Amino acid sequence: MVKVLDEHERTMAFADVALGQIRSLRQTAIPRNYEIWYVYATGYNAPLNKIINETLARNGKLTEADLEQIYETYLSHLKTTDRIDKVGARVIGEIDDVMVLLSDALGVSASYDSSLNGASEKLSSARTRDQVEAIVQSLVKATNEMRETNKALEARLALSRNEISNLQQSLEAIRAESLTDPLTGLGNRKYFDRMIEMAVQTAQASGEPLSLLMFDIDHFKSFNDSYGHLTGDQVLRLVGMSLKQTIKGQDITARYGGEEFAVVLPNTALRQALTVADHIRRAVMAKELKKKSTGEILGRVTISVGVSMLKPEDDTDALIERADACLYVAKRNGRNRVICEVDPEYVAETQSQVA
Ligand code: GH3
Ligand code: MG
Ligand code: MG
Repeated sequence: MVKVLDEHERTMAFADVALGQIRSLRQTAIPRNYEIWYVYATGYNAPLNKIINETLARNGKLTEADLEQIYETYLSHLKTTDRIDKVGARVIGEIDDVMVLLSDALGVSASYDSSLNGASEKLSSARTRDQVEAIVQSLVKATNEMRETNKALEARLALSRNEISNLQQSLEAIRAESLTDPLTGLGNRKYFDRMIEMAVQTAQASGEPLSLLMFDIDHFKSFNDSYGHLTGDQVLRLVGMSLKQTIKGQDITARYGGEEFAVVLPNTALRQALTVADHIRRAVMAKELKKKSTGEILGRVTISVGVSMLKPEDDTDALIERADACLYVAKRNGRNRVICEVDPEYVAETQSQVA
């Protein structure tokens, strides 16, 4: 509940800025304008902020045309559904073009067929060399036409193959983006949900061990309150970077939610997982935070980590719940530490809950 309330306050702050701008610039309060100013307030989309600041500095206002242009350039293309619709329309267009071409080619092929039949009939009744020559000439002409049509068809199909491979790449880029957290570049929650499900199934089928780390930044709310959300976002990026640097190979990393991250470690037993968790904890703690704009030293952040290992009777939710419970035991026992499900602190808490 505390978390929900914080997220509420955080997003309300952006909403207040957005509505304040709409009010003071006397713009229409339609969703598009609200979205522009909301994104502006978060600062996530640096090019959007830059163009707005420049336009305001130059003209003192944003016209309807400016807003339309800004939305089109910096926001609308980000919408996955719009982009999928556009790729879909291009696929349909491509198929339509090829169908027209194929039906033309079929027409030519049918008329070639009747030319051949006609020629064979005429040949059987041809009596003179001139008659035979005329038949052969008409056949050569029909064959040439057929060859030209085939060439055009081949060239068009080659173009089409290129276009379809471009479309495949666009779809792949959209898919990858829809599974990526834009702030940290790690996998997002959707990615995590899919990957952990697959990893659990694989581990259960093979009998190989599988561990899960869940970690959360300590006292991040007070960090945000002291230095602002944009600096908080830089810290989230830095934590994401420390995670990427520490984790290799088949391990799956994701931003699970606000300031919470998860790592799935296939083929890894609890002891090794604890070593990995401690590496991440140390890597985050080792980074001295500096405010980019002023060079001000902001100190360090720490993380608390919960670690669980898949049991034969587990499903994915049970594995996540135990890692999460360990994480909260780590918080209650002083933070900046790793707790796993065989640690006495965890066992004591779960037993006292049962008792
Ligand atoms: P604890 O050590 O118990 O985890 O304390 P905490 O303050 O980190 O925990 P709490 O859950 O109370 O607060 C989490 C805060 O993280 C709330 C919110 O301000 C911040 N936060 C969540 N998502 C984001 C984000 O995307 N950007 C920034 N800057 N802050 C975020
Ligand atoms: Mg926290
Ligand atoms: Mg949290």
